[in-house]
Amino acid sequence: MSHAPLTVLDTLGRPMRDLRVSVTDRCNFRCTYCMPKEVYGADHAFLPRAEILDFEEIERAVRASVALGVRKVRLTGGEPLVRRNLEALVAMLAAVPGIDDLTLTTNASLLAGKAQALADAGLHRVTVSLDALDDATFMRMNDVGFPVQRVLDGIAAAEAAGLGPIKVNTVVRRGLNEHAVLDLAERFRGTGTTVRFIEYMDVGHTNGWRLDDVVPAAEIAERIHERWPIDPVDSAYRGEVAQRYRYRDGAGEIGIISSVTQPFCGDCTRARLSADGHLYTCLFATTGHDLRDLLRSGADDAAMAEALRVIWTGRSDRYSELRTLDTVELPKVEMSFIGG
Ligand code: SAM
Repeated sequence: MSHAPLTVLDTLGRPMRDLRVSVTDRCNFRCTYCMPKEVYGADHAFLPRAEILDFEEIERAVRASVALGVRKVRLTGGEPLVRRNLEALVAMLAAVPGIDDLTLTTNASLLAGKAQALADAGLHRVTVSLDALDDATFMRMNDVGFPVQRVLDGIAAAEAAGLGPIKVNTVVRRGLNEHAVLDLAERFRGTGTTVRFIEYMDVGHTNGWRLDDVVPAAEIAERIHERWPIDPVDSAYRGEVAQRYRYRDGAGEIGIISSVTQPFCGDCTRARLSADGHLYTCLFATTGHDLRDLLRSGADDAAMAEALRVIWTGRSDRYSELRTLDTVELPKVEMSFIGG
Protein backbone atom coordinates (compact mmCIF):
# COMPACT_ATOMS: atom_id res chain seq x y z
CA MET A 1 0.00 0.00 0.00
CA SER A 2 1.33 3.46 -0.86
CA HIS A 3 1.45 6.21 1.73
CA ALA A 4 1.75 9.22 -0.54
CA PRO A 5 0.01 12.02 1.36
CA LEU A 6 -3.62 12.41 0.38
CA THR A 7 -4.72 15.95 0.02
CA VAL A 8 -7.90 16.38 1.96
CA LEU A 9 -8.30 20.12 2.36
CA ASP A 10 -10.47 22.14 4.71
CA THR A 11 -12.56 25.12 3.58
CA LEU A 12 -9.45 27.34 3.75
CA GLY A 13 -7.30 24.96 1.68
CA ARG A 14 -5.34 23.54 4.63
CA PRO A 15 -4.35 19.84 4.64
CA MET A 16 -4.51 17.65 7.76
CA ARG A 17 -0.91 16.75 8.61
CA ASP A 18 -0.55 16.68 12.40
CA LEU A 19 -2.58 14.88 15.01
CA ARG A 20 -2.16 15.60 18.71
CA VAL A 21 -3.52 12.84 20.87
CA SER A 22 -4.38 13.59 24.47
CA VAL A 23 -4.02 10.29 26.32
CA THR A 24 -5.28 11.59 29.66
CA ASP A 25 -6.87 14.72 31.10
CA ARG A 26 -4.90 14.22 34.35
CA CYS A 27 -1.64 15.88 35.26
CA ASN A 28 0.66 15.79 38.28
CA PHE A 29 1.44 19.52 37.93
CA ARG A 30 -0.94 22.39 38.61
CA CYS A 31 0.62 25.05 36.41
CA THR A 32 -1.19 28.22 37.32
CA TYR A 33 -1.76 29.17 33.68
CA CYS A 34 -3.11 25.75 32.66
CA MET A 35 -4.63 23.73 35.53
CA PRO A 36 -4.94 26.17 38.42
CA LYS A 37 -5.52 24.52 41.81
CA GLU A 38 -8.67 26.54 42.44
CA VAL A 39 -10.28 24.75 39.50
CA TYR A 40 -8.42 21.41 39.48
CA GLY A 41 -8.55 20.74 43.21
CA ALA A 42 -9.01 17.48 45.09
CA ASP A 43 -12.70 17.41 44.20
CA HIS A 44 -12.25 17.97 40.48
CA ALA A 45 -14.05 15.36 38.38
CA PHE A 46 -11.59 13.98 35.85
CA LEU A 47 -12.83 11.70 33.10
CA PRO A 48 -13.94 8.30 34.35
CA ARG A 49 -11.92 5.42 32.94
CA ALA A 50 -14.76 4.08 30.78
CA GLU A 51 -14.93 7.36 28.91
CA ILE A 52 -11.26 7.37 27.98
CA LEU A 53 -10.21 5.77 24.71
CA ASP A 54 -8.23 2.58 25.17
CA PHE A 55 -5.00 2.06 23.23
CA GLU A 56 -6.66 0.03 20.51
CA GLU A 57 -9.25 2.77 19.95
CA ILE A 58 -6.55 5.43 19.81
CA GLU A 59 -4.61 3.37 17.29
CA ARG A 60 -7.67 3.02 15.05
CA ALA A 61 -8.35 6.75 15.15
CA VAL A 62 -4.70 7.46 14.36
CA ARG A 63 -4.73 5.00 11.44
CA ALA A 64 -7.79 6.73 9.99
CA SER A 65 -6.10 10.12 10.26
CA VAL A 66 -2.97 8.78 8.56
CA ALA A 67 -5.15 7.59 5.68
CA LEU A 68 -6.23 11.22 5.27
CA GLY A 69 -2.73 12.64 5.23
CA VAL A 70 -1.52 12.92 8.85
CA ARG A 71 2.23 12.38 9.02
CA LYS A 72 3.06 13.65 12.48
CA VAL A 73 1.57 12.30 15.70
CA ARG A 74 2.19 13.88 19.08
CA LEU A 75 1.10 12.29 22.35
CA THR A 76 0.13 14.82 24.95
CA GLY A 77 -2.38 15.49 27.72
CA GLY A 78 -2.73 16.27 30.63
CA GLU A 79 0.57 14.67 31.38
CA PRO A 80 0.95 11.72 28.99
CA LEU A 81 3.44 9.87 31.18
CA VAL A 82 0.90 9.48 33.98
CA ARG A 83 -1.05 7.14 31.67
CA ARG A 84 -0.03 3.64 32.66
CA ASN A 85 2.03 1.60 30.19
CA LEU A 86 2.17 4.41 27.64
CA GLU A 87 5.05 2.63 25.94
CA ALA A 88 2.58 -0.03 24.78
CA LEU A 89 0.62 2.64 22.89
CA VAL A 90 3.86 4.03 21.48
CA ALA A 91 4.73 0.58 20.15
CA MET A 92 1.31 0.26 18.52
CA LEU A 93 1.60 3.66 16.85
CA ALA A 94 5.20 3.07 15.80
CA ALA A 95 3.88 0.13 13.79
CA VAL A 96 1.38 2.28 11.83
CA PRO A 97 2.84 2.79 8.35
CA GLY A 98 2.94 6.38 7.14
CA ILE A 99 3.84 8.23 10.36
CA ASP A 100 7.07 10.17 9.76
CA ASP A 101 7.28 11.78 13.17
CA LEU A 102 6.08 10.18 16.42
CA THR A 103 6.67 12.42 19.38
CA LEU A 104 5.57 13.25 22.91
CA THR A 105 5.12 16.45 24.92
CA THR A 106 5.81 16.02 28.62
CA ASN A 107 6.59 17.94 31.78
CA ALA A 108 9.43 15.38 32.18
CA SER A 109 8.61 14.67 35.83
CA LEU A 110 8.53 10.93 35.06
CA LEU A 111 10.79 10.97 32.01
CA ALA A 112 14.03 9.83 33.63
CA GLY A 113 12.47 6.47 34.46
CA LYS A 114 10.61 6.10 31.17
CA ALA A 115 12.88 7.45 28.44
CA GLN A 116 14.57 4.18 27.52
CA ALA A 117 11.31 2.20 27.43
CA LEU A 118 9.73 4.88 25.21
CA ALA A 119 12.70 4.85 22.86
CA ASP A 120 12.68 1.04 22.75
CA ALA A 121 8.97 1.15 21.89
CA GLY A 122 9.71 3.33 18.87
CA LEU A 123 9.14 6.92 20.03
CA HIS A 124 11.20 9.26 17.84
CA ARG A 125 11.70 12.27 20.09
CA VAL A 126 10.31 14.34 22.97
CA THR A 127 9.41 17.93 23.70
CA VAL A 128 9.83 18.94 27.34
CA SER A 129 8.00 21.82 28.99
CA LEU A 130 10.16 23.88 31.35
CA ASP A 131 9.27 27.42 32.37
CA ALA A 132 12.29 28.48 34.43
CA LEU A 133 15.71 27.31 35.59
CA ASP A 134 15.42 28.58 39.16
CA ASP A 135 13.36 26.56 41.61
CA ALA A 136 11.57 29.57 43.09
CA THR A 137 10.03 30.57 39.75
CA PHE A 138 9.50 27.04 38.45
CA MET A 139 7.75 25.95 41.64
CA ARG A 140 5.60 29.05 41.62
CA MET A 141 4.48 28.08 38.12
CA ASN A 142 4.05 24.29 38.51
CA ASP A 143 2.46 24.88 41.95
CA VAL A 144 3.31 21.39 43.25
CA GLY A 145 6.86 22.13 44.45
CA PHE A 146 8.52 20.20 41.64
CA PRO A 147 12.26 21.00 41.35
CA VAL A 148 14.02 22.01 38.11
CA GLN A 149 16.78 19.43 38.48
CA ARG A 150 14.45 16.49 38.00
CA VAL A 151 13.26 17.96 34.70
CA LEU A 152 16.89 18.40 33.63
CA ASP A 153 17.51 14.76 34.64
CA GLY A 154 14.59 13.75 32.42
CA ILE A 155 16.03 15.70 29.50
CA ALA A 156 19.42 14.04 30.02
CA ALA A 157 17.81 10.59 30.12
CA ALA A 158 15.89 11.32 26.92
CA GLU A 159 19.09 12.42 25.25
CA ALA A 160 20.90 9.30 26.39
CA ALA A 161 18.05 7.16 25.06
CA GLY A 162 18.30 8.83 21.64
CA LEU A 163 15.01 10.74 21.88
CA GLY A 164 16.46 13.83 20.25
CA PRO A 165 16.59 16.39 18.88
CA ILE A 166 14.88 17.55 22.07
CA LYS A 167 12.82 20.70 22.18
CA VAL A 168 12.12 22.63 25.37
CA ASN A 169 8.86 24.61 25.51
CA THR A 170 8.69 27.66 27.75
CA VAL A 171 5.52 29.68 28.29
CA VAL A 172 6.49 33.26 29.00
CA ARG A 173 4.28 35.21 31.33
CA ARG A 174 4.76 38.90 32.05
CA GLY A 175 6.17 39.58 35.48
CA LEU A 176 6.46 35.90 36.36
CA ASN A 177 9.24 34.23 34.36
CA GLU A 178 10.47 36.88 31.92
CA HIS A 179 13.97 36.47 33.34
CA ALA A 180 13.87 32.79 32.40
CA VAL A 181 14.11 33.70 28.71
CA LEU A 182 17.81 34.52 28.91
CA ASP A 183 18.49 31.82 31.54
CA LEU A 184 17.05 29.08 29.32
CA ALA A 185 18.59 30.45 26.14
CA GLU A 186 21.98 30.42 27.82
CA ARG A 187 21.56 26.97 29.34
CA PHE A 188 20.70 25.30 26.05
CA ARG A 189 22.84 27.30 23.61
CA GLY A 190 25.25 24.99 21.89
CA THR A 191 23.65 21.80 23.26
CA GLY A 192 21.57 20.80 20.22
CA THR A 193 18.39 21.29 22.28
CA THR A 194 16.16 24.04 20.90
CA VAL A 195 14.22 26.21 23.34
CA ARG A 196 10.90 27.47 22.04
CA PHE A 197 9.33 30.39 23.82
CA ILE A 198 5.54 30.42 23.73
CA GLU A 199 3.34 33.48 24.10
CA TYR A 200 0.95 32.92 26.96
CA MET A 201 -2.37 32.10 25.29
CA ASP A 202 -6.04 32.47 26.15
CA VAL A 203 -6.73 28.76 25.88
CA GLY A 204 -9.62 27.49 27.95
CA HIS A 205 -11.38 29.89 30.25
CA THR A 206 -10.10 29.02 33.71
CA ASN A 207 -6.70 30.69 33.70
CA GLY A 208 -7.91 34.30 33.91
CA TRP A 209 -5.87 35.28 30.85
CA ARG A 210 -5.25 38.96 30.23
CA LEU A 211 -3.50 40.49 27.23
CA ASP A 212 -1.24 42.34 29.67
CA ASP A 213 0.23 38.98 30.75
CA VAL A 214 1.53 38.24 27.25
CA VAL A 215 5.15 39.01 26.42
CA PRO A 216 4.99 39.53 22.64
CA ALA A 217 7.19 37.35 20.43
CA ALA A 218 8.94 40.42 19.03
CA GLU A 219 9.99 41.46 22.53
CA ILE A 220 11.30 37.98 23.35
CA ALA A 221 13.34 37.94 20.14
CA GLU A 222 14.69 41.41 20.86
CA ARG A 223 15.84 40.48 24.36
CA ILE A 224 17.73 37.46 23.09
CA HIS A 225 19.12 39.38 20.13
CA GLU A 226 20.57 42.06 22.43
CA ARG A 227 22.54 39.41 24.28
CA TRP A 228 23.34 36.92 21.51
CA PRO A 229 22.49 38.21 18.02
CA ILE A 230 20.04 36.01 16.11
CA ASP A 231 18.67 35.91 12.56
CA PRO A 232 15.31 34.53 11.43
CA VAL A 233 15.38 31.19 9.62
CA ASP A 234 12.84 30.17 6.97
CA SER A 235 10.33 27.62 8.24
CA ALA A 236 11.15 24.01 7.50
CA TYR A 237 7.65 23.03 6.40
CA ARG A 238 4.14 24.39 6.01
CA GLY A 239 2.38 24.51 9.35
CA GLU A 240 5.52 24.83 11.47
CA VAL A 241 4.32 26.63 14.57
CA ALA A 242 7.50 28.29 15.75
CA GLN A 243 9.28 31.14 14.05
CA ARG A 244 12.87 29.91 14.11
CA TYR A 245 15.96 32.01 14.77
CA ARG A 246 19.61 31.04 14.50
CA TYR A 247 22.37 32.39 16.73
CA ARG A 248 24.89 34.25 14.61
CA ASP A 249 27.74 32.71 16.58
CA GLY A 250 26.72 29.19 15.53
CA ALA A 251 25.33 28.09 18.92
CA GLY A 252 22.15 26.66 17.38
CA GLU A 253 18.57 27.85 17.20
CA ILE A 254 15.64 29.08 19.26
CA GLY A 255 11.96 29.20 18.33
CA ILE A 256 9.19 31.62 19.25
CA ILE A 257 5.52 30.68 19.07
CA SER A 258 3.39 33.76 18.63
CA SER A 259 -0.16 32.54 18.56
CA VAL A 260 -1.40 35.80 20.08
CA THR A 261 0.53 38.61 18.38
CA GLN A 262 1.24 36.97 14.99
CA PRO A 263 -1.37 34.25 14.46
CA PHE A 264 -0.56 31.47 12.02
CA CYS A 265 -4.00 29.96 11.40
CA GLY A 266 -3.51 30.17 7.64
CA ASP A 267 -0.99 27.36 7.87
CA CYS A 268 -2.62 25.33 10.63
CA THR A 269 -2.59 21.64 9.68
CA ARG A 270 -3.37 20.30 13.16
CA ALA A 271 -6.21 18.29 14.61
CA ARG A 272 -6.54 17.24 18.23
CA LEU A 273 -8.05 14.08 19.67
CA SER A 274 -9.17 14.41 23.28
CA ALA A 275 -8.75 11.58 25.77
CA ASP A 276 -12.48 10.86 25.51
CA GLY A 277 -12.36 10.54 21.74
CA HIS A 278 -13.51 13.90 20.45
CA LEU A 279 -11.79 15.52 17.53
CA TYR A 280 -11.10 19.24 17.84
CA THR A 281 -10.06 21.20 14.79
CA CYS A 282 -8.76 24.23 16.71
CA LEU A 283 -6.93 24.66 20.02
CA PHE A 284 -9.46 27.36 20.85
CA ALA A 285 -12.56 25.36 19.95
CA THR A 286 -15.65 25.30 22.13
CA THR A 287 -16.84 21.87 20.93
CA GLY A 288 -15.40 18.72 19.41
CA HIS A 289 -16.68 15.98 17.12
CA ASP A 290 -17.46 12.68 18.81
CA LEU A 291 -15.44 9.80 17.33
CA ARG A 292 -15.78 7.51 20.33
CA ASP A 293 -19.31 6.42 19.54
CA LEU A 294 -18.19 5.50 16.06
CA LEU A 295 -15.13 3.66 17.35
CA ARG A 296 -17.25 1.74 19.84
CA SER A 297 -19.98 0.88 17.36
CA GLY A 298 -17.61 -1.24 15.32
CA ALA A 299 -16.93 1.21 12.48
CA ASP A 300 -14.26 -0.12 10.12
CA ASP A 301 -11.22 1.85 8.90
CA ALA A 302 -13.06 3.16 5.85
CA ALA A 303 -15.97 4.47 7.94
CA MET A 304 -13.56 6.11 10.40
CA ALA A 305 -11.65 7.78 7.60
CA GLU A 306 -14.88 9.00 6.02
CA ALA A 307 -16.01 10.53 9.33
CA LEU A 308 -12.69 12.35 9.62
CA ARG A 309 -12.89 13.50 6.02
CA VAL A 310 -16.32 15.05 6.61
CA ILE A 311 -15.07 16.85 9.73
CA TRP A 312 -11.89 18.11 8.08
CA THR A 313 -13.45 19.27 4.83
CA GLY A 314 -15.98 21.30 6.85
CA ARG A 315 -13.29 22.96 8.95
CA SER A 316 -13.10 26.76 8.88
CA ASP A 317 -11.52 27.59 12.29
CA ARG A 318 -9.09 30.48 12.54
CA TYR A 319 -9.63 31.61 16.09
CA SER A 320 -6.31 33.35 16.63
CA GLU A 321 -6.85 35.53 13.60
CA LEU A 322 -10.32 36.51 14.82
CA ARG A 323 -9.41 36.89 18.50
CA THR A 324 -11.06 39.88 20.15
CA LEU A 325 -11.81 40.77 23.72
CA ASP A 326 -15.19 39.07 23.24
CA THR A 327 -13.84 35.77 21.94
CA VAL A 328 -11.57 35.55 24.98
CA GLU A 329 -14.72 35.07 27.06
CA LEU A 330 -16.01 32.10 25.01
CA PRO A 331 -16.36 28.79 26.92
CA LYS A 332 -13.36 27.27 25.13
CA VAL A 333 -12.30 23.75 25.97
CA GLU A 334 -9.34 23.48 28.37
CA MET A 335 -5.88 22.77 26.98
CA SER A 336 -5.29 20.06 29.59
CA PHE A 337 -8.34 18.33 28.12
CA ILE A 338 -7.62 18.47 24.39
CA GLY A 339 -3.88 18.46 24.67
CA GLY A 340 -1.30 21.16 24.10
N1 SAM B 1 1.83 17.90 30.44
C1 SAM B 1 2.53 18.02 29.20
C2 SAM B 1 3.52 19.16 29.26
O1 SAM B 1 3.66 19.77 30.31
O2 SAM B 1 4.19 19.39 28.27
C3 SAM B 1 1.68 18.13 27.96
C4 SAM B 1 0.43 18.97 28.01
S1 SAM B 1 0.68 20.71 28.26
C5 SAM B 1 -1.00 21.30 28.20
C6 SAM B 1 1.41 21.21 26.72
C7 SAM B 1 2.03 22.57 26.66
O3 SAM B 1 1.03 23.55 26.72
C8 SAM B 1 3.00 22.89 27.75
O4 SAM B 1 4.23 23.28 27.17
C9 SAM B 1 2.35 24.05 28.45
O5 SAM B 1 3.29 24.93 28.99
C10 SAM B 1 1.57 24.68 27.35
N2 SAM B 1 0.48 25.55 27.82
C11 SAM B 1 -0.49 25.27 28.71
N3 SAM B 1 -1.30 26.32 28.89
C12 SAM B 1 -0.83 27.32 28.10
C13 SAM B 1 -1.22 28.66 27.85
N4 SAM B 1 -2.27 29.21 28.46
N5 SAM B 1 -0.49 29.38 26.96
C14 SAM B 1 0.57 28.83 26.34
N6 SAM B 1 0.99 27.58 26.53
C15 SAM B 1 0.32 26.82 27.40
